[in-house]
Amino acid sequence: QKFVYDFTEGNKDLKDLLGGKGANLAEMTNLGLPVPPGFTITTEACKVYLASGAEPPEMRDEVSAHLDALEAGMGKKLGQADDPLLVSVRSGAKFSMPGMMDTVLNIGLSDASVAGLAAQAGNERFAWDSYRRLIQMFGKTVLGVDGELFEEALEETKRAKGVTTDVDLDAADLQRLVEEFKGIVSKETGRDFPQEPREQMDLAIRAVFESWNTDRAKLYRRQERIPGDLGTAVNVCSMVFGNLGPDSGTGVAFTRDPASGHAGVYGDYLQNAQGEDVVAGIRNTVPLADLEQLDKASYDQLMQIMQTLETHYKDLCDIEFTIERGKLWMLQTRVGKRTAGAAFRIATQLVDQGLIDEAEALQRVSGAQLAQLMFPRFDEKAATELLGRGIAASPGAAVGKAVFDSYTAVKWSRSGEKVILIRRETNPDDLNGMIAAEGILTSRGGKTSHAAVVARGMGKTCVCGAEELEVDTKRRRMTAPGGVVIEEGDVVSIDGSSGKVYLGEVPVVPSPVVEYFEGRMHAGADDADELVQAVHRMMAYADRTRRLRVRANADNAEDAARARRFGAQGIGLCRTEHMFLGERREMVERLILADTDADRDAALDALLPLQKADFVELFEAMDGLPVTVRLLDPPLHEFLPDITELSVRVALAEARQDANENDLRLLQAVHKLHEQNPMLGLRGVRLGLVIPGLFAMQVRAIAEAAAERKNAKGDPRAEVMIPLVGTVQELEIVREEADQVIAEVEAATGTNLKLTIGTMIELPRAALTAGQIAEAAEFFSFGTNDLTQTVWGFSRDDVEASFFTAYLEKGIFGVSPFETIDRDGVGSLVREAVKAGRATRPDLKLGVCGEHGGDPESVHFFHEVGLDYVSCSPFRIPVARLEAGRAAA
Ligand code: PEP
Ligand code: MG
Repeated sequence: QKFVYDFTEGNKDLKDLLGGKGANLAEMTNLGLPVPPGFTITTEACKVYLASGAEPPEMRDEVSAHLDALEAGMGKKLGQADDPLLVSVRSGAKFSMPGMMDTVLNIGLSDASVAGLAAQAGNERFAWDSYRRLIQMFGKTVLGVDGELFEEALEETKRAKGVTTDVDLDAADLQRLVEEFKGIVSKETGRDFPQEPREQMDLAIRAVFESWNTDRAKLYRRQERIPGDLGTAVNVCSMVFGNLGPDSGTGVAFTRDPASGHAGVYGDYLQNAQGEDVVAGIRNTVPLADLEQLDKASYDQLMQIMQTLETHYKDLCDIEFTIERGKLWMLQTRVGKRTAGAAFRIATQLVDQGLIDEAEALQRVSGAQLAQLMFPRFDEKAATELLGRGIAASPGAAVGKAVFDSYTAVKWSRSGEKVILIRRETNPDDLNGMIAAEGILTSRGGKTSHAAVVARGMGKTCVCGAEELEVDTKRRRMTAPGGVVIEEGDVVSIDGSSGKVYLGEVPVVPSPVVEYFEGRMHAGADDADELVQAVHRMMAYADRTRRLRVRANADNAEDAARARRFGAQGIGLCRTEHMFLGERREMVERLILADTDADRDAALDALLPLQKADFVELFEAMDGLPVTVRLLDPPLHEFLPDITELSVRVALAEARQDANENDLRLLQAVHKLHEQNPMLGLRGVRLGLVIPGLFAMQVRAIAEAAAERKNAKGDPRAEVMIPLVGTVQELEIVREEADQVIAEVEAATGTNLKLTIGTMIELPRAALTAGQIAEAAEFFSFGTNDLTQTVWGFSRDDVEASFFTAYLEKGIFGVSPFETIDRDGVGSLVREAVKAGRATRPDLKLGVCGEHGGDPESVHFFHEVGLDYVSCSPFRIPVARLEAGRAAA
């Protein structure tokens, strides 16, 4: 095993081993670009170090060999007294973790070599400044000295001299500061600052390894869902200096505009400076275009290199560079981050340039980005005062009055106010308030905090961890950095896509992408047009490529029509219980309370025409496309009054001695139907089996509606779906009755309805006996909500608000299994059930209608296991289409 790679030995595909930075430095080196020579120590070496507490034994010799080669190439030795080779030691993991891990510059400087550097550079001040930076950075990150101590000493030196910036300190000041810094190191660590260059380097490498496991790095990885066991590579690179005078400098650049994708010169340049100075914002940078005036040769070379990089990577790249006395050096490149809109535009631009094909273009965008483009957005032009920024935890644009506790949130929203719930952090007690609010703002916590997790689960806008905003819940106010105070009732606007928090109401505009899907997009704003064109083209690529069909979960004509506009190829789940809300609830109540056959029949007869009318509308909206109607699923008590409220009402009435007969009967029924575990109780197919006539009525309504549409020259394609089946016997009994009803309707209406009957697979037993169940089912639709609930034993209605935050924080899972399919557990049941079902019935139609049907990652899974379609809520259809295309590309 090889632990060290020269930059000439690696390439961009070795990110696992060399980290992103190392792999790309190698790639640039091999392209012949001017990269300062160096080498990369692999992530494997880091893993060995982290597991055993020591470097792999071979590593030291390998590092020596590579250092020798580096020294030979540079014609000077690390730390050589008269002309020292200096190196940087930089972290670089597979995934970029900006600022999370350690970097040490100027390794090789010592009491012996500082004069040599000064002589070579012809600049005494520069040499002492480099040395003091080394001791400071090394002391803090490698030796663990409190960084404040160095900062204070630096401040004191400036104060004593009566100046405000570092630049005003001269060589003598800095030389004194070096002595002082060395003193701090000795005092704090009990050892002298190491003068031996190789020892400096070895300790720095070790410190970078260790920085993989600092608390902040771990936290960042959890938030970004980066696995904790990857380790970091270490890049040892010969130093070049951008701070040697006006003919030196440092900058960052993009090969095209990361916001629009347009060609042009994008970046910033800072003359006579090092990279850290840019980040620290000590002086103002100038636009990169100005470099042309400052140093035309370097500018031209840089433009040439950016062209090379973009053609080579076939994508937008961002780069860091340094100019040392008129000589350009490339310090880093990578495929650049971009906004969601830019991702779509750039992908199509690259297709037009012939750099990538459609399949590759699909890999350059994601469903999550498309979802982001579909949220309503603030009209930035009309934005009011920016109060602060937090983490963009759950996208959307929400406006409302500030409230600081859940009780007020609920109370105000009941009286019709829109509110934003503002808390330092939320906990499960805030759930009602979160539901009532338009959006949630917290000053603490990251992307996996309670607020963030729950808000995402509810599809609610959330900005979390806005630390600069001081939330005082006791006094019901929030203070922004400028001193602006937001009292309860003041209007604020929060942007869950950018993390920005504004004072007052920022107007919201619908997303142009949704306007496009709705067919309402008018030409006009050029910018929106360009975005919509790009989305339109990417959707066409996806539709041409995908194998999965995409259906909608919809239970009324309006949703069905929208779903169709959004590209749905049918309805995969019509939840009929949604048709029994409002005034119809009482009809179901009557059915439940019926004592006699006559009462029951009367109740069913009253429901039949209503159900039928629902289905006629639905079949019309989806004419020519399949519509899966699921028979009644939820536990019956959901249709009855709340047990506590009713008990109180009856008790009060009894005390007044005017209890009414009906309420008493109702209370009895409520008691009788009360279940400790309703989700595992009398619901789904079990209802059909114990309430005579219920399923028959629903099947009759479906059949009669289909017949009516047929006779009106429509093309209804109804499918009857039985929920919560655990064994084929249940299905057989229901089926027999259903077949009979359908035959009756067909005979009476003179139609051949070709209705199919299938089942949901949403219990482990159903999945495990799918081979048997397929005997009685023409299709399966995986109900992954209930399947996840029953496989994990997680109550789907409770856990996300109770212990999921802890699970996410502990890394037990990176994302809720109710959001993204658990491939190993629930997924393997799905995979096996698909196999067993198809073995019994090769033409078995297979789909999924749980929430996972619209989740990007899960769509890829369903593609892999060979389902025929996914079904999801109307707004997620474009995302599912895109991801189905990406999965097949
Ligand atoms: C499911 O369980 O996945 C499903 C789609 O049914 P419901 O969510 O209505 O229980
Ligand atoms: Mg279900």
